[in-house]
Amino acid sequence: MPLPPLTGHLETRRRLAQAVRGDTLPQVLLLTGPTGAGKQRLALWLAQLVLCERHDEEPCGSCRACRLVIGLSHADLHWFVPIARPKAGDPDRQVDEAAETLAGIMEERRKHPLYTPADGMASHSIATVRLLQRKASLTSVEGGARVFIIGEADRLVPQESSPEAANATLKLLEEPPPGALYLLTTLDPRRVLPTIRSRAAPIRLNRLTDEAVRDFLRQHTEPRWSEEKIEQRAGLAAGSIGIALSEGEESGKAYRSAEQLLVAVAEGRGPALERALGQVTYSARGEFAAMLDALADTLGEAARGTMGQPVRRSIPQPLLRHRSPRPLLQAMERVAEAREAAAGNVNPQILLAVLGEELAEVL
Ligand SMILES: [Zn+2]
Repeated sequence: MPLPPLTGHLETRRRLAQAVRGDTLPQVLLLTGPTGAGKQRLALWLAQLVLCERHDEEPCGSCRACRLVIGLSHADLHWFVPIARPKAGDPDRQVDEAAETLAGIMEERRKHPLYTPADGMASHSIATVRLLQRKASLTSVEGGARVFIIGEADRLVPQESSPEAANATLKLLEEPPPGALYLLTTLDPRRVLPTIRSRAAPIRLNRLTDEAVRDFLRQHTEPRWSEEKIEQRAGLAAGSIGIALSEGEESGKAYRSAEQLLVAVAEGRGPALERALGQVTYSARGEFAAMLDALADTLGEAARGTMGQPVRRSIPQPLLRHRSPRPLLQAMERVAEAREAAAGNVNPQILLAVLGEELAEVL
C-alpha cells in the first residue's frame, strides 16, 4: 500500500521545491515541529521530489522513482527510525540486528503506511549510526541522489555516557558527499546536540488545522472511522495527525498523568504531590518517556498561551495563572533533563521524585 499523500505545509513545500529547482537545497536539513505534524512525511515528500524523474513543483507521483519512494522501496532512500537497542554482544552483529529491525519496520509500513510515534525508549544507538555510515559509504544504486532520513534525531543518544553515536553522525554531516541529502527531524531542536544542530538548515513545520486533520482521517483510515470517532480524535489531537492516529488510550493516558502531576506540583510540596508521585508506577520505561513528552508538550502549550499565541490543547487550570513564559520554559528544561536521564539507566520512580521537586520550585 503506498504512503498516503502529505497533508498541508504548502508554503514550506513551495520553498523547498524552489530550492530543489534552483539547486540551492542545503544537504543537511533539520525539520522541526510538533509531534505528528508530518515531519517525517514531509522528509519523504522531499525525497520523492529530489528523486522524481520529472522536475516539477510537486513530485509527479507516477514515474518509476516516485512509485518506488511512496512504496518505501527506493534503493537510494534510507529511512532510519528509532528502534530498541540491539541485544547482540558483538558490535558487527549489533549492526546486522539494527538493519534487520529497521527492515522489519519498513516491511510493516509498506503494509500499513499509517504509523504512530516510536516507543518512548526506542533510540538511534551506535549500531544504527554504524549502519548509516555503512550505507552512506556506498554509491547511488539508481545513479541519482541518495536520501537519508533520520527521524527523531534527538534520540541519537550518547551511548553508555560516550557521545560516540552523535560524533560519528557528525562526521557524516560535516562533509556530505555530493548527491547525498540528510533530512533530520525533531520535536524540539534544543534536544538535538548543538554540534549537529549547527550543521543543519532548520525548517519549521506548524500544526495542521483541525479541518485538515479531519479530512485526512476521513480519507485515509482503513476501515473508515465513524464521524463521531473522527471528531473525538481530531479534537484531542490539536493539529497532529500522528496523535489522532495513535491509540487514543495510550497517548491520552500520558497526557492525563502529566496533568495530574502538574496539578499536584502547583499545590506545592505536600500530601498531594506525595500522592501524585507515589500513585503512578512506571514499570515500562516507554510509558514514562511518553509521560515526560506529554509534560513538555503541555508546558510548551501553556508558555505559548502566556505569549498571546493560540493554544490548541487544554491547559491544566493551575498553569493558567502564569503571566510570563519564563517559569514554564524553566520547567520544560527540567523535563528535558529528566528525559535525557530516562534514556540511561536511572530508575523512573527516582527521576519522577526529583522532577516533582524541581517543578514545584520553578512553577
Ligand atoms: Zn515522479
